Amino acid sequence: MNIIILGPQGSGKGTQADMISEKYNLLHIETGKILREMAKSDDPLSKEIRETMMEGRLVSDMILGKIIEGVLQTKDKRGLLLDGTPRDITQYDLIKNILERRGERIDRVILINISEEETIKRLTSRRTCERCGNVYNIVTKPSPNGDMCECGGLLVQREDDFPESIKKRLQLYHEQTGAVLSEAKREGILIEINGERPVEVIFKDIVDAIEKINGENTVKN
Ligand code: AMP
Repeated sequence: MNIIILGPQGSGKGTQADMISEKYNLLHIETGKILREMAKSDDPLSKEIRETMMEGRLVSDMILGKIIEGVLQTKDKRGLLLDGTPRDITQYDLIKNILERRGERIDRVILINISEEETIKRLTSRRTCERCGNVYNIVTKPSPNGDMCECGGLLVQREDDFPESIKKRLQLYHEQTGAVLSEAKREGILIEINGERPVEVIFKDIVDAIEKINGENTVKN
């Protein structure tokens, strides 16, 4: 079973992705996280990645292709949970083609939807641990240690979580990811979920949708 989870920045898709991948033993691939690690490393592409991310643009298809190919080459039998990818229709086609060659497909595209106002509110209050990457929110999930993480690392605001970058990222999201959502809808595999509700309620809706896929696969086998 291969699933894509998408949503505007701050929709909580990362939290849901962690819960889904654990429950269904899926390989969770978060391209944003992989790219942030590459940006900090001595990878020859790090400068380009860092600049692109700070400006709120998408990294090139070449860089993304390298990441996806790399992950798929080392992948075990587990299904995939793609978190934050594909960002546009070219990436969607690329991923579908790679999976098709392996006799697999995308089973569902899950969209966690929140309003633009909510996105800006949530992202400007997000803080990330410099050391372990743990994510807090100064309004909804503050660290018990103030501006330090529970691991002792310093909590910082991501460089692309400032209003100008957020606006740019949201504009891109609507322009580019919108086409992926329309295509998934046309294919009959889009599941839309209201993300402005408690985490457990959203998770239950997702589990119900996934159980339907499992039901379909059982009928086919
Ligand atoms: P995210 O953590 O998903 O918000 O991603 C942070 C940044 O990483 C984005 O603004 C992009 O610059 C880059 N990024 C993440 N995923 C992709 C992708 N699939 N394609 C291109 N750029 C990406």
